[in-house]
Amino acid sequence: MVRKTLIAGNWKMNGLLEDGVALAKGVKEEFKKTGRRDCEVLVCPPFTLLTSVKKAVKGSRVMVGAQDCHYAEKGAHTGDVSPVMLKNVGCDYVIVGHSERRTNHHETNELIAQKAASAIKAGLKVIICIGETEKERDAGQTIDVCTKQIMGSVPEIATAQNTVIAYEPVWAIGTGRTPTTAEVEEVHAAIRKVVSKKLGRANANKMRILYGGSMKPTNAKELIALPDVDGGLIGGASLKVADFMAIIAASKQ
Ligand code: PEP
Repeated sequence: MVRKTLIAGNWKMNGLLEDGVALAKGVKEEFKKTGRRDCEVLVCPPFTLLTSVKKAVKGSRVMVGAQDCHYAEKGAHTGDVSPVMLKNVGCDYVIVGHSERRTNHHETNELIAQKAASAIKAGLKVIICIGETEKERDAGQTIDVCTKQIMGSVPEIATAQNTVIAYEPVWAIGTGRTPTTAEVEEVHAAIRKVVSKKLGRANANKMRILYGGSMKPTNAKELIALPDVDGGLIGGASLKVADFMAIIAASKQ
């Protein structure tokens, strides 16, 4: 079963116009040089940079995504951005349910499923993030927590073509700590089983499950080589062209 590796950069709330465009151009040029077609590359800048970054990567295979969206198409939602708007400025993907949104904005599984469904209907692909806190891991609840998050935040219309799952242990994000490779594979294999239960075996076999949480050039190879890991969602290390490219290089099987 071939699942194309996806390496996605989540820039979070980082980047002014000049450095965002320079970063995007750097990724574009370096990725072009590799000539690789076995791997997809995605950058997810803040809303303010989407149009400029889309322009900066034009003529390459680098895709552009947003970090969140509202579920409504338009209307009285001050400060929000709809999936239709994201599609309109050339986005290919949108991340939903990142733990920073679940925590800082109190987002529930139900809300995340609504956002994902609207994004898919607008023609975007979605990356739905899940993952346990340190307390939950210590209490042996990792698989239970991830199962509940998948059952609740993956919409019924999700398929392997329009949806990617990112397993991001909350305690590994931005901390420099990661689970062991055995722990990562255990969770990814369990996630695939839950997806099979929810969306059928064909979707589960083809759906990409990314690992995220302190992925960097030094650990990317062993993580991405795991049987049920189909790429990475990368925060800090996606902000430097050299680090991001080193992770892409490490994804060569
Ligand atoms: C993230 O927030 O999606 C992430 C994986 O961050 P970092 O790589 O910095 O841990």
